[in-house]
Amino acid sequence: MAAGGAALGGFAVARNLFAGGAFDNRAAPAAGSRPAGARRYIEMERSGELTRREQALWDLYSPCRLCPRLCGANRSAGRAGICSSPGELRVASFGRAFNIDRPIAGTRGTGAVFMSNCNLLCVFCQNWQIAHRGDGAVISHTDLANIMLDLQRIGCHNISYVTPTHMVPHIVTALRIAIARGFNLPLVFNTSAYESLEMVQLLDGIVDIYMPDFKFQDAAIAARFTHGAPDYPLHAAAAIKEMHRQVGGFQTVDGIGQRGLIIVHLVMPENLAGTDVFVRWVVSELGRDTFVTIMDQYRPMFRANDFPPLDRRITAAEFAQAKRWAREAGLHNFH
Ligand code: SF4
Repeated sequence: MAAGGAALGGFAVARNLFAGGAFDNRAAPAAGSRPAGARRYIEMERSGELTRREQALWDLYSPCRLCPRLCGANRSAGRAGICSSPGELRVASFGRAFNIDRPIAGTRGTGAVFMSNCNLLCVFCQNWQIAHRGDGAVISHTDLANIMLDLQRIGCHNISYVTPTHMVPHIVTALRIAIARGFNLPLVFNTSAYESLEMVQLLDGIVDIYMPDFKFQDAAIAARFTHGAPDYPLHAAAAIKEMHRQVGGFQTVDGIGQRGLIIVHLVMPENLAGTDVFVRWVVSELGRDTFVTIMDQYRPMFRANDFPPLDRRITAAEFAQAKRWAREAGLHNFH
């Protein structure tokens, strides 16, 4: 299945497809050798398995059951669900990026592709122009394949899809086009973790590195600070466990991530993210070796000022307490 869309007519290696977006577009360092070894998605393409997965993912697209909202929107006919995502493939920006965990950015950067729209819709969204307003441009699957190939050509270590959940079938269709033309980088799935389990299961062997957030542990808090998703903690936990089952612990070669799971946890004012509960869950369900990034960069953005205490940054004491909880829980692979 192919989505229509205006061709971009040639690519720079980094572009914002909307006004006002920003990402690191520093000059390209020299490209080194490509990651060694065939990727599993290439084997799946050869065996026909990737075609089967692609079809199964498109089956989830209309009526849409890609995420736990289960809107049932007929997206192939252009109907949007809660995520407001259109039937077409819409991309906000792409380019080399370094503002991500070091084993993903490495020395040559990750090839970041920001998808427009979002299925979770947090009230404090740091990228609200993309996620809530849907800024970006409609492109074709061949365009997206060209983006992936161009980011590979300039030496990026991997391709990171940011907020990909509602666009997964498009991504896999573009991947198949790119594979036929020599694409072989690890795929990184950088997501809120608000996924349908069925969709994540279909990504087994396609995604190399999962980077899910685990934002909230409490249903009432999740409902209040997202677009009404009290089931976020439940579905995020199930999705992350499935991601871990698929790819296991985070693995690097020469310091660059090749496969595995990194969980990202943003500490929030007054422990609204439930950091103490989160770190205990990680240790009991996934093990103390799990790679976890605990972030202190919460800023009040978008509608956060309407939801105190989201109207302030976290304090140094709150962040220190979060790290203490991680240590006390037994986590030792966090930063
Ligand atoms: S991806 Fe969007 S349309 Fe599909 S179920 Fe989720 S919110 Fe609804």
